[in-house]
Amino acid sequence: MSETTPTQSTNFIRTIIDEHNASGRFEQRVHTRFPPEPNGYLHIGHAKSICLNFGLAEDYNGKCNLRFDDTNPVKEEQEYIDSIIKDVKWLGFDWEDRLFYASNYFDQMYDYAEQLIRAGKAYVEDLSAEEIRQYRGTLKEPGKNSPYRDRSVEENLDLFRRMRAGEFEDGSKVLRAKIDMSSPNLNMRDPVMYRILHAEHPRTGNKWCIYPMYDWAHGLEDSIERITHSICTLEFEDHRPLYDWFLDQLDAYHPQQIEFARLNLNYTIMSKRKLLRLVEENYVSGWDDPRMPTISGLRRRGYSPEAIREFSDRIGVAKTNSTVDFALLDHVLREDLNKRAIRVMGVLNPLKVVIDNYPEGQVEMMEAVNNPEDESAGTRSIPFSKEIFIEREDFREEANRKWFRLTPGKEVRLKHAYYITCTDVVKDDSGAITELHCTYDPASKGGWTDDGRKVKGTLHWVSAAHAVPAEIRLYEHLFTKENPDETEEGQDFTANINPDSLKILTNSLVEPSLKEAQPGTYYQFLRQGYFCADPDTSAEKPVFNRTVTLRDSWAKIEKKLK
Ligand code: ATP
Ligand code: MG
Repeated sequence: MSETTPTQSTNFIRTIIDEHNASGRFEQRVHTRFPPEPNGYLHIGHAKSICLNFGLAEDYNGKCNLRFDDTNPVKEEQEYIDSIIKDVKWLGFDWEDRLFYASNYFDQMYDYAEQLIRAGKAYVEDLSAEEIRQYRGTLKEPGKNSPYRDRSVEENLDLFRRMRAGEFEDGSKVLRAKIDMSSPNLNMRDPVMYRILHAEHPRTGNKWCIYPMYDWAHGLEDSIERITHSICTLEFEDHRPLYDWFLDQLDAYHPQQIEFARLNLNYTIMSKRKLLRLVEENYVSGWDDPRMPTISGLRRRGYSPEAIREFSDRIGVAKTNSTVDFALLDHVLREDLNKRAIRVMGVLNPLKVVIDNYPEGQVEMMEAVNNPEDESAGTRSIPFSKEIFIEREDFREEANRKWFRLTPGKEVRLKHAYYITCTDVVKDDSGAITELHCTYDPASKGGWTDDGRKVKGTLHWVSAAHAVPAEIRLYEHLFTKENPDETEEGQDFTANINPDSLKILTNSLVEPSLKEAQPGTYYQFLRQGYFCADPDTSAEKPVFNRTVTLRDSWAKIEKKLK
């Protein structure tokens, strides 16, 4: 019996683990791993895999390793390794002392390869990559044996050792497993195990000039680390027989591979190759551009690790691929930020308002609740004075009865401050409104009266003399299409990039408390959405990213479904 009872809702992976615990297959051990290739930054799809692997280990009192699958020195970089470590930590997971690298096992993998050669189960191939492809056959036709397939064990050993010693050029030879060129599973048609690559590796330097292929290395890594459940995405289902074949031939420890459907999100892409193109071709400012689906981009935009973990839990695990609505991620984020984001006031497009009957030179400090959802967040004071700024779009010169915001003659509430009524509109020569004049009711201090007066509209504002100029960055989806890969003939996904995905406002004004905003702090700007101070922020010029607006389209979808 399992020692711990998982508290979360069950899924097919848990069912398998429970069965193993019941049968004692892994002596009640649960040991998973997250195995990224350090060839790019992690994205929200990886987050799902991280939450799944670390989450299962936590729930079953097991362990989860962080392992870099660093078998391809051509595409891998230390920058990626560092970013991955940072991102997994930020998501809130801990691998303790189990940070591993596939490259740590290169010697052992090499020994295993010699073992296969000696058993007559691997051979050195001289055919070119193109010829190998031709000999491979298709799904309908069996492949053909290579003329080099029947080399003797001695010759294979000799050639393989010379491959390792650097005697041959890149691409001139490979080591292949000797399995079955007519297998209906193409992965079993004598897959390549090693290629020659005279490339420096971030960790092993120039020690090696042959590098293991992913399919040879991956199963061995899991076996060497005595992983119990090797959780991977569906496309590896067809590779499982190969991983099993290798481990059988070597008489090595067998983990259980379990496949699940990868996460897809609409309006974005998840392929590292394509994300790299966005960065290299400057469609975005970098891997951490707040429009990127990368963990670093989401962090910079203001998504919390708690929300990403909750999202990952809610979408669950499945056996068939599907696409999740981005609105669900935003919904979960709003739920989280609603509980803890400090409510502040920022005016994105300011319009000046002069309160004619307010005493010249007077400043009153208005008390504001920091978070109505959390009393412990306390209060702060905001200065109020004769000249303020309101949101330009909160004023209409002509309005019907449904307009509850500012318009001449109608009373509105300034949040935390007073009721005001617009008395005059000032325009420039072109007819553009430059300033409003209002009167205030001194009896409405704090934004309410006890005479039963009804004031529907509530506006946010900042005091002109105290406001802090800020840069505000507004975002939309990076792509205009739900499926960015859906394009006209001859185009690629970049044709669907949204030209309006970033809008920078440089004339915005925020309340003085935001002068010291620390990067990464979450705020709710009243009526404007959730914002997060950007790393570019400074006391001279605070910079805020709008994470999401307050409008929750997922809540509407959910209502309809019920
Ligand atoms: P590639 O292999 O093309 O470089 P990858 O996205 O598979 O890209 P890896 O670094 O191999 O990148 O991924 C690490 C782990 O994350 C793997 O176990 C993989 O299955 C998992 N993973 C990757 N993308 C997703 C996704 N969209 N949803 C869930 N898990 C994913
Ligand atoms: Mg991969």
